[in-house]
Amino acid sequence: MTSPAIPASPAAPPPAGTTAPAPALFKEWSGYLKPEDLSQIQAAYHFSESAHQGQFRKSGEPYIAHPLAVANILAQWHLDSQALTAALLHDVVEDTEVTKSQIAEQFGRPVAELVDGVSKLDRIQFDTQEHAQAENFRKMLLAMARDVRVMLIKLADRLHNMRTLDAVHPEKRQRIARETLEIYAPIANRLGLNSIYQEMEDLSFHHLFPDRYRVLAKAVRTARGNRREVVGKVLESIERRLGEFKVESQVQGREKHLHSVYRKMREKHLSFAQVHDVFGFRIIVKDMPACYVALGVLHGLYKPIPGKFKDYIAIPKANGYQSLHTTLFGPFGSPIEIQIRTADMHRIAEAGVASHWLYKSTDTSLSELQQKTHQWLQSLLEMQSESGDSVEFLEHLKVDLFPDEVYVFTPKGKIMSLPRGATAVDFAYAVHTDIGNRCVAVKINQELMPLRTELRNGDRVEIITASHAKPNPLWLNFVATAKARAHIRHFLKTMHFSESVQLGGRLLQQALANFRKTPADIHDPQWDKLVRDSNARSRDEILSDVGLGKRLAVVVAHQLLALGEPLQPESRPSGAVVVRGSEGLAVQFARCCGPIPGDPIIGIINKGQGMVIHTHDCPVAAKSHRDPERVLDVQWDANPTKLFDVGIRLVVANQRGVLAKVAAEIAAAESNIQNVAVDPDDGGTYTVMRFTVQVQNRMHLARIVRDLRKIPEVVRIGRNKG
Ligand code: MN
Repeated sequence: MTSPAIPASPAAPPPAGTTAPAPALFKEWSGYLKPEDLSQIQAAYHFSESAHQGQFRKSGEPYIAHPLAVANILAQWHLDSQALTAALLHDVVEDTEVTKSQIAEQFGRPVAELVDGVSKLDRIQFDTQEHAQAENFRKMLLAMARDVRVMLIKLADRLHNMRTLDAVHPEKRQRIARETLEIYAPIANRLGLNSIYQEMEDLSFHHLFPDRYRVLAKAVRTARGNRREVVGKVLESIERRLGEFKVESQVQGREKHLHSVYRKMREKHLSFAQVHDVFGFRIIVKDMPACYVALGVLHGLYKPIPGKFKDYIAIPKANGYQSLHTTLFGPFGSPIEIQIRTADMHRIAEAGVASHWLYKSTDTSLSELQQKTHQWLQSLLEMQSESGDSVEFLEHLKVDLFPDEVYVFTPKGKIMSLPRGATAVDFAYAVHTDIGNRCVAVKINQELMPLRTELRNGDRVEIITASHAKPNPLWLNFVATAKARAHIRHFLKTMHFSESVQLGGRLLQQALANFRKTPADIHDPQWDKLVRDSNARSRDEILSDVGLGKRLAVVVAHQLLALGEPLQPESRPSGAVVVRGSEGLAVQFARCCGPIPGDPIIGIINKGQGMVIHTHDCPVAAKSHRDPERVLDVQWDANPTKLFDVGIRLVVANQRGVLAKVAAEIAAAESNIQNVAVDPDDGGTYTVMRFTVQVQNRMHLARIVRDLRKIPEVVRIGRNKG
């Protein structure tokens, strides 16, 4: 992975976005792409060119120059052909008649998804000035991008627009530059894309504060001229000394980018002289031990300044950055900042491993899932590092950047973060308890929707309230946040006992209707027995529990009926109980068989209050079959709301790189990997890998299995139960 060079001299604005003609570029890209990839890319170029026919950029160039330049930026990072194809097409859905399905037909679904992802990001505009909101907005974009390639295309798009911003109207120029500085440059930084980050910052600085930029650039240029000789001498002694100790190295002078100088002056109230009175060098050596040798050699050459040494090799930064940093007392009274790293570390520092696709914010701690993803990637990195292609491997790996959060807008444009699966009711409670307690309806993106609607990234959510409204216990069936659950429960608790009994009675009546029964069909002995069996004090207490959502009405109905005359086949429930996956504690999924939507399932009522879902052929569940009154007919909701964990077990030929292939294939099938275990290498021909992956349903799982079978090294594959 190579990265575009940092602009050589900050005195002039970084180069404008002139791009070589297409045929010349295709030739350049062919260096790392396969011929068949290249012909698809060429087809995409012609497709895009004719779609944008007649459109021109503000600079007067034909529009196609822009997507071509964007693709070229991505080619510098050696992105795959799907990403390049999508880059060439990235504006056609937004700006021309072409539809997503046309792209899918011609260039395949993955490309269409990438284009669609970029278009979705384009539709969202950052319009608040609030600083804290910028952080949330960045997260929202990252969450929406899902596939990190979408974000890389978006960043390349923005970079090219920044490089050609001169042609744009001054007012718009300001807006774009501010947005870049607050949103896109920090995203590039977090993803470890250092050179884009610096270029974006300097370009934004140049357009936002042209005068300050000019003055500072001139000052830097002058200072550099004055110090040229001194820097040359220091460079020479460093190189000579490293040579004496036989450390193979490349020593480069290093300059801070203008905006970072400016920021340091502002934040620390320093004068230019105070900030810039530092020489920087970067030393690239061949391997990790050599980093420490070089460090020792330099500490022998000039005295280190105490407290300035940092070992980011032993403890890398969150975005994957590794280097040794030290500052030395220079021979001419100026401190010298040194970075020492290997070529691999340098590549990552400049172009990023996209921070292992992990976005770590400073104010909130990582969720468990994010941590798991992080650990998993880390372990993969370690396993891959032997083969030396970890960077390339990660490039192809698709990982959901925020698997467990959604970001939505309030009507005033404020951004709220909620756990994935959160509904309109969760949103209402997140805004304010009163809003939650009084909500009656919701508008999502201007449309009236049911309160149970699950929110998606970028939704604009408006809650409609009524002063007389009260929380509904049925909400407990779908809310995803602890806050909403707690508030609903709390409200229900403060409800008068008689009210909850009444409500429970109503819910039970509904549940009995499922079995084609009415409350009149339940006789006192049945009630008495249930009260005794469940250690309740009275019938009313059980009804109240139902009203408060502590017991499932359908379970109580079933228990009561089972205590009466044996259930006749015709009095079985007319419709099976529908399982959605988000019922909370009242419905659990058995660990023994790990059912996923599409599996035939049965519900087993446990002695307490809830129900456990098993696959119909689960041996554990079979034991309960002997207790027919504990078995409940259940079926999956048509659209279950959560993702389900499922285990798969593979027998594979024991060859280097297999794990990477398998992981990439799983990721390409849009599944999250929760866990991976590989049997220790005993030198045998075959080895066993166990993955826990998240799927929507059986079809999704079948698709993954089918794709994995195509890998030649995979010998056997099956679902791993228990
Ligand atoms: Mn564009």
